[in-house]
Amino acid sequence: MSGDGTRCVHGGDGRDHEVGAPVHHGPVLTSAFHLGLPEQAVSGADIYARADNPTWREYEAAVGGLDGGACTVFGSGMAAIAAVLRAFGSRERGVLLPADGYYVARALADEELAPLGVPVGYCSTAGDWIAAIAEHRPGLVLLETPSNPGLEVCDVAAVAAAAHGIGAVVAVDNTTATPLGQRPLDLGADLVVASDTKALAGHGDLLIGHVTAADPLHAERVRGFRTRGGAIAGPMETWLALRGLGTLDLRLARQAENARALALALRETPGVHDVRWPGLADDPSHPLASRQMRRWNGVLRFTLRDVPAVSEFLRRSTLVDSATSFGGLRTAADRRARWGDAVPGGLVRLSCGVEDTDDLVADVTGALGA
Ligand SMILES: *Cc1c(COP(=O)(O)O)cnc(C)c1O
Repeated sequence: MSGDGTRCVHGGDGRDHEVGAPVHHGPVLTSAFHLGLPEQAVSGADIYARADNPTWREYEAAVGGLDGGACTVFGSGMAAIAAVLRAFGSRERGVLLPADGYYVARALADEELAPLGVPVGYCSTAGDWIAAIAEHRPGLVLLETPSNPGLEVCDVAAVAAAAHGIGAVVAVDNTTATPLGQRPLDLGADLVVASDTKALAGHGDLLIGHVTAADPLHAERVRGFRTRGGAIAGPMETWLALRGLGTLDLRLARQAENARALALALRETPGVHDVRWPGLADDPSHPLASRQMRRWNGVLRFTLRDVPAVSEFLRRSTLVDSATSFGGLRTAADRRARWGDAVPGGLVRLSCGVEDTDDLVADVTGALGA
């Protein structure tokens, strides 16, 4: 396999190199495609852009190549998760979700699936998934590792083996890791779901998501759901995300470098508690994360005394945005308790941007009163 930088730049590079062909394709902005005369066959050709279009194919070839499966792009990470929950959860066999994962996925299961009679079960990311699978006997297991915002991890290969033992499908929310940081399909998962809104697109200017399937039949089911559900990505967003993907390797490298430096500095900063970044050798997530992940990213968390301490930090920092979302160019802090996550009021998820490491460490430790 080529290196990560090469794969990001050349992934999905099936285009012709004929003289005069564009090196970069722009977004194909059309809802409909020419059908020809009634007696002409249209099979294989594009018909209507809700079903398929050339810009999606370019993106899906690139991201599917990184994930190692068949990719289907969606209009957001939640659209991708909704497709998987609804396509693989049923009244007979419910869904098992992380209790401490992305909170809107829980809301979707509780508010939209449970009322339809789909059993919804939970297990915490660092909890006993094998026991939870035996208890709930779900049709779909959704993992999120590292989890958002706790940065806990779970053993994808072990959970997949247990889930497959009862015929369940396993999906992994790979948003935090990105396809460069972790390849869940290689670990035995059936599906990857992700919010590419975060580090993959990486510029904080659009929403997009995807599902990648190891099994072509699963991919077909997901695609059918997209066509009928209509939660599609616009070609302009898809093209911008593809453009962002080209620099994912470079951005992740700087973000991880910043996260490592900041995590080390924060540990030494008075008033800062419970600093977690899976890349630190003595982080509780490190042993498992370093076995199943390929590389680190820029998302860390720490806890300040209380909400006023977080306010004081945000007021004094000049580089850190108070904003949700993560994985972008700009460093952003999000106080997760405000969204109802069951975490301390002073817990901050910090997404390191691509600023210079020295500048960022000086700004953050200065703002924390060091
Ligand atoms: C942001 C996020 C989502 C939802 O993605 P959107 O693109 O905002 O719809 C899902 N899972 C995780 C882990 C996320 O961080």
